[in-house]
Amino acid sequence: MTQSIGLTVITGPSGVGKGTLVSRLLERNKNVWLSVSATTRSPREGEKDGVNYFFLAKNQFQALVNNKGLLEWAEFAGNFYGTPKQEVLKKLKNRKKVLLEIELEGARQVRKSFPEAFQIFIAPPSYEELEARIRGRDTESEDSIQKRLKRAEVELKAQKEFDAVVINKDIEVALISLEKLIGLNLSK
Ligand code: 5GP
Repeated sequence: MTQSIGLTVITGPSGVGKGTLVSRLLERNKNVWLSVSATTRSPREGEKDGVNYFFLAKNQFQALVNNKGLLEWAEFAGNFYGTPKQEVLKKLKNRKKVLLEIELEGARQVRKSFPEAFQIFIAPPSYEELEARIRGRDTESEDSIQKRLKRAEVELKAQKEFDAVVINKDIEVALISLEKLIGLNLSK
């Protein structure tokens, strides 16, 4: 087994509660740093540029891709998302624990570029529960909900590719599992 580089990837279908889990984890673990992604999607109410995402126009995103400024990127539900490379490399160099919260295609790209990164899949208790959560969030148009649910079917089938699966039924239980996995991944 190789020494971990301190990079953990968290993936899971839209609506599974990754965002809430990750923000709770960051509150409790000040030594963990979450990468801020770039996206072409519009900000949701309350989201701030540079905090939740770097909200970019399509041509700005394309420029980042062209300049090889992204560690990985993918299209998801009609928008582009990507991980700015420079800051991640800097944090890893400084031995910070780095989290990427990204979708499946991005996770697959990271698996190639950083095979030693630890990859965790967050799964819902059931598909029905996932749909209820996405709808309950009330942040998406019906078109976006449909795209996300369709993509969720593909993502759920891919969970066996991951190093670990955490079922987010009870957030407190899931949070503890996640913390244990992130603490343990140093020995991967
Ligand atoms: P949302 O629009 O709900 O914020 O995010 C949609 C999906 O994009 C989620 O599954 C989220 O994990 C993923 N995502 C967020 N940032 C990135 C990124 O930098 N790269 C990739 N590949 N996916 C991302």
